[in-house]
Order: sequence, then structure tokens, then C-alpha cells
Amino acid sequence: VEKARLVELISLGPGGVRFAPSPTGRFHIGNLRTAWISREFARALGLPWVVRFEDIDVPRVLAGARESQAEDMAALGLVPDRVEIQSAFRARHWNVFSQAVRSGAVYPCDCSRKDVREAIQGSASAPHGVQPIYSGHCRARKGTSSGPDSVGWRFAVPEDKSGQSDFVVARTGSRLPAESTFVPAYHWACAIDDWDGKHALLVRAHDLAEVAGQHRSIMRWLAGSKGVATSSSSIFPAVFHTSLVTGDSGERLEKRTRGVTLPELVAAGWTAEALEKRFASSFDRSFLSPFAPGKIFGEAGIMLKFRELIGLK
Ligand SMILES: [Zn+2]
Repeated sequence: VEKARLVELISLGPGGVRFAPSPTGRFHIGNLRTAWISREFARALGLPWVVRFEDIDVPRVLAGARESQAEDMAALGLVPDRVEIQSAFRARHWNVFSQAVRSGAVYPCDCSRKDVREAIQGSASAPHGVQPIYSGHCRARKGTSSGPDSVGWRFAVPEDKSGQSDFVVARTGSRLPAESTFVPAYHWACAIDDWDGKHALLVRAHDLAEVAGQHRSIMRWLAGSKGVATSSSSIFPAVFHTSLVTGDSGERLEKRTRGVTLPELVAAGWTAEALEKRFASSFDRSFLSPFAPGKIFGEAGIMLKFRELIGLK
């Protein structure tokens, strides 16, 4: 049954298995391992491997990073069947946002970070045992006050009436949103593009596992909204979270971390073949067998130490 639904999902559109890096710097070995795993899924499922460069966080995007990421993948034989550039979908992000404003699916919020922190600390324990990320203040207020120069917009999570799960999906210059000042948040652009892409599977690292529910909330709204839905299907992409490759103490690999980029590894004597072997021996191939559409799953080890990945004792 699961396999039949997977075939159904695949037949719905161009979709595939997507890997979506942000071109904010050189890849480290963890990014490359996630890329490799996503391509393994694509091969196993017989689907196109789609790489979408998420370049909408303009202050963080680094000139030349997309090219270096593509080069590093190519050096490991990881050549996408299709490449997408997220900024090309900007008009779509705006159009869907306009519809969300009209329908009340999003609402303006001008609470400062401090307001939100204090309100959360002052509130009683959350219903459903979920950690609140917001007070719900502006959802109840329905945006009646006059706003400042820049306004955040929260998605009113339908499943949580308290508003305490409502998260920011965009900023605009004022409460009368204009496309010229519209800046979508990562969640908004990513969820819309993943939905529109009709992908069978999204592959990303474990640090994004906690936002899977937020993205799915947006997709559920998309699926049920006339005018913005791209398909009548209510099949959601599955999501696979890969282990986060870390330093010896579990710390994140960062730009200043030495020895973890492909050129550095090559300089230290690593070949593409040897690295691929390490990726293969660190990955449980049973994940590649048919899985349920929409399933959210991942590697059990949330962290994988760099030393262990490359076989240093
Ligand atoms: Zn607010």
C-alpha cells in the first residue's frame, strides 16, 4: 500500500528528492554527506535529484558560494538532475502571502523579542505540553493598533488556538503590505517551494527537524486554500533528517572550523572515492527502502562526530 501511494505521489508531478543548501559559505563535510544521502535516495527511488539553492536570506548569502558548493558536489560525482534558485520564486512567495493576508491566515505582529520573551515567561504552562514560541498577543488583537515602520507577520497555526505556536513568516514595511518591502522568512519560502515542487522527499540535517511541523502547517493551509493550491492532492512530501556532523565535543562545524571543507580534505590526502566510502559506511541503507509518503524520519544519531565519520580514532 505504501509503495502504491509513493508511485501515486511520484506520478503527480515533476517532483523528486530535493536537497536545499543555503549559499552562505563553503560546504563542510556534513553538508556534503547530506547531499550524498539525498542523491542516494533519488537513485533508490528512481526520481530526479533536485538541488534548490536557498538564496533569499540576502544578508547571509555570500558571492561565489553557490558556485563553490556546486563544484564541491561535482567533485564527488554529485550532479543534480535539476537546479533551482529560490529567489526565482519570489513572486510566488509574495502572491501566496497576499492571499494569506486576505484570508487572515497570517496577521501582523509588532511585538519585540523582549515583549515575546517576557510574555512567554509570564504565562502559565502551555496547553498540549508544547513549548510556546509566542504569547498569542497579536492574534487576539486582530492587528488594531497602528504599526511601526516594519511589521512581522505570524502564521496563525490552526491546530493551536492559543496562538502560542504562531511563527513569523515574513516582514513588510507596514501593515498594508507591499511587494517592494516584502521579505519572506525561511519557513515561508521553503514550505511553499517544497509544496509546489511536488517532491516525494526532502532531505536535510537534523538541526531543521524542529521546524518540520511548522512547514507542514503551511503546507496543510496551502493544500486547503483555493487560489494558491498547486494541486488537489493532500499528499505531503516525506522528510528525512540526516545526522549533524560535529566537532569532538558536539559543537557545530562553522566557517572557522579547520579541515572540514573538501579542498582541505583533498589537501590532507582524501580522494573523492575514499570520502564516498566513509559516507557509505556511516549510512544505514535500509532507510532507502520504500517509505510512507509524508513520513518524517531520520537517522537515529542526531550527531555524528567528524573524527568518527572520517575514521579517526
Ligand atoms: Zn505581536
